[in-house]
Amino acid sequence: ETSKASNFIHQMIENDLAAGAHDKVVTRFPPEPNGYLHIGHAKSICLNFGTAEKFGGVCNLRFDDTNPEKESQEYIDAIMSDVSWLGFKWGGDVRYTSDYFQQLFDWAVHLIKEGKAYVCDLSPEDARDYRGNFTTPGRNSPFRDRSVEENLELFEKMKNGEFAEGACSLRAKIDMASPSMILRDPMLYRILHMAHHQTGDKWCIYPIYDFAHGQSDAIEGITHSLCTLEFEEHRPLYDWFIENLPVPAQPKQTEFARLNINYTVTSKRKLKQLVDEHIVESWNDPRMPTISGLRRRGYTPGSIRNFCDSIGVTRSNSTVDMGMLEASIREDLDSSAPRAMCVTQPLKVTITNYDDAAEEWFELPAHPKDETMGVRTVPFTRNLLIEQDDFAEVPPRKWKRLTQGVAVRLRGSYVITCDEVIKDEAGNVVELKCSYDPATKGENPVGYKAKGVVHWVSADNSLPCEVRMYDRLFTEENPDGDKERDFKDFINPESLVVLSNARVELGLKDVPAESRFQFERTGYFCVDSDSSSDKLVFNRTVGLRDSWAK
Ligand code: ATP
Ligand code: MG
Ligand code: MG
Repeated sequence: ETSKASNFIHQMIENDLAAGAHDKVVTRFPPEPNGYLHIGHAKSICLNFGTAEKFGGVCNLRFDDTNPEKESQEYIDAIMSDVSWLGFKWGGDVRYTSDYFQQLFDWAVHLIKEGKAYVCDLSPEDARDYRGNFTTPGRNSPFRDRSVEENLELFEKMKNGEFAEGACSLRAKIDMASPSMILRDPMLYRILHMAHHQTGDKWCIYPIYDFAHGQSDAIEGITHSLCTLEFEEHRPLYDWFIENLPVPAQPKQTEFARLNINYTVTSKRKLKQLVDEHIVESWNDPRMPTISGLRRRGYTPGSIRNFCDSIGVTRSNSTVDMGMLEASIREDLDSSAPRAMCVTQPLKVTITNYDDAAEEWFELPAHPKDETMGVRTVPFTRNLLIEQDDFAEVPPRKWKRLTQGVAVRLRGSYVITCDEVIKDEAGNVVELKCSYDPATKGENPVGYKAKGVVHWVSADNSLPCEVRMYDRLFTEENPDGDKERDFKDFINPESLVVLSNARVELGLKDVPAESRFQFERTGYFCVDSDSSSDKLVFNRTVGLRDSWAK
């Protein structure tokens, strides 16, 4: 198996293995359960699980749950379901950083005993002030020289709930003048009087990410701890803990570039705002860049994995075009999705020379390039429906669809000619009276030409459905790019257009949710979970070609 794009991490691991640094590759995917996973996480999932797969190792799923304020079981369940849906299997049971709270606490005590950690009573604001900045060294906290005994006693009291939130914290004693800001006596534990979704009321002090992450990696024997570039400046601290604690292994952190995609946002915090403020329906709204949203939109796991594979893994941040993600599902569905005809905005067509009582069944291939997918049969009757957009009273130049006096082929059946246009009082076209040419079943017309091909359904013998035309969620390439304006100002008002009078061919009766189709000439669609046998509901996954107006 060869990756299409460059992946510097795979090259690095090959070197490590050649040098005999590890017997086995162990990675982990460490989401915080404070939201649903998005397409950016898919990159990390594909990298971590894909790397383990490639080198015959394992990838753990670890919930990085050190922040009970924002976390919940709902998110844990959703994350497990998304990772599985993408087709990955984690090694052993799911893990939680909270499983290691006792060990982490013991290691904190170890640092205190070694004179490398102290309880500090500075308020968060004062601590920030003491830290200095990139040009000014920090100042030592007045609490830095507390004795080991006093620190042990105070830390025990912190753990026992004897202090209010913010009253004190445990900090590492490293170097307040370090050029690396993260080494200026970073916080290890904070007080939070709050129940935790896994540990209940057992703890009221919680470790900071930096104190938990590398040690959890060490406990699990992670060989390669892969994270995004914003953690690069945390690496000296990651290494400091590994060097200064009796950990069972020596994991190494390597950073790679986050995935950013234009016309959307990939930040759980922002996606949560869209849900909380009812700008979208839910985390799995088909417009969301969440894995569950993409799934409901009609994306396949393979298309997301291919996309992640094709963008490569590097150390330079960049923005990927949404068109690339769309192209990957289009490519997948072009070969895998059966074809069907759906008229999304119907216009009545009456075939005046076709007997009212007659009905014929036409056989059409389920897929034009794949005979193994079989055929479908569609009924032809006197009353038909075509797309309103496939008729123009005053056609533009090179018009290949219907207009008065012109012949077109109805896909897979006869050539018809429009003889008369019927309008309502307001002047809207409400019906076309057409005639069909009985000699054109599978044959070209004699003496004249059909201008083009349009799709259709029988008005009497088709299924009512709702079609949800989804489009990009934002009108701007970079919705967070304008510092003066909120990203929510750039929501695309046409990101969802509901067409509730659509009709689809009969064969789609009772198709299960998530079935995917190409509606001929219209786009790729999938059956929504709101769909029922009374009313089918289809979501547009993507158009037939890239038509986003730039
Ligand atoms: P967000 O900013 O959306 O909350 P996060 O990084 O805080 O993202 P985590 O749950 O901590 O979310 O992420 C789990 C893993 O996924 C981390 O290793 C993180 O680096 C990675 N990850 C998150 N977002 C992206 C992204 N856009 N591209 C690549 N990897 C990502
Ligand atoms: Mg994070
Ligand atoms: Mg986050």
